[in-house]
Amino acid sequence: MIHKRRDKPIGLRMLELLSKRMSIDSKTMQQYVSLKKGYEGELFFDTFINELKEECIILNDLLLEVNHTVFQIDSLLITQEKIQLYEVKNFGGDFYYEEDKLFTRNQREIVNPLHQVGRSNSLFSQLLIKLQIKMPIEAFVVFVNPDFTLYQAPIGKPIIFPGQLKRHMSNLSNTHSRLTNYHKNIAEQLVERHIAEPLYPHVPHYDYQLLRKGITCQKCDSFSITVERKYCSCNLCNHKELVSLAVLRSVEEFTTLFPKEKITTNIIHDWCKIVTCKKRISRYLESNFQKEGVRQWTFYK
Ligand SMILES: [Zn+2]
Repeated sequence: MIHKRRDKPIGLRMLELLSKRMSIDSKTMQQYVSLKKGYEGELFFDTFINELKEECIILNDLLLEVNHTVFQIDSLLITQEKIQLYEVKNFGGDFYYEEDKLFTRNQREIVNPLHQVGRSNSLFSQLLIKLQIKMPIEAFVVFVNPDFTLYQAPIGKPIIFPGQLKRHMSNLSNTHSRLTNYHKNIAEQLVERHIAEPLYPHVPHYDYQLLRKGITCQKCDSFSITVERKYCSCNLCNHKELVSLAVLRSVEEFTTLFPKEKITTNIIHDWCKIVTCKKRISRYLESNFQKEGVRQWTFYK
């Protein structure tokens, strides 16, 4: 049972949109690529954990605080006997382990996820004590990328390698688990304490005027789109989409980037750029949003 869904982090969604509408410096681009990769790894891990057969509660992407320290848990699993925490890593390529440190093949040290998971484990234990919950905790680092190799990997550490993931899950599936209100109550308390994504540290400053306008292809993100009657068609990949849907998709992009701006026919007409007829835009907005105000003060919610 999934008790807390995993949503695409808003910071990642914003970077995704900005990267196609403005030029982004290479450092931000790197952060975007690594956030995206991390998120994809988590989704991949979800496909395994969602298959569990025994009774359990899954809480995804928790941001918690205890004693003024914030920590994040990628996936948390509550079963009858214990709570399991997973730190999911989508590293690809060759790495090596030496003196409790993790290095890439070309000797660049990266944050050791075992330290990360140790920290989460300790902070989470403190939180359980505070909430007067008595449950054993187990915390793991899961490397999900089949292309990942770790030389000199230590034995006896809480690591799940790509080749062990299936076995780990089938062991869980074979462990009898029945949940009671006690477990549900734990889940509810944790979700209640979840902090919404606080800030978007990687998102650069942006300005409406400087963003590239236009509907982009749903499939390949190209701006090379032609409107032909009911359809938008991509000149690069030939993908076709109903203009009405493409406009709505663009409205979602606009509101993600400018959540405080009102949706008006004028602004969406300017944002979509390629739909020449303003009336058409207002027709789509009218049939999908609630109209507020009159005449030139009309906006949509
Ligand atoms: Zn395309």
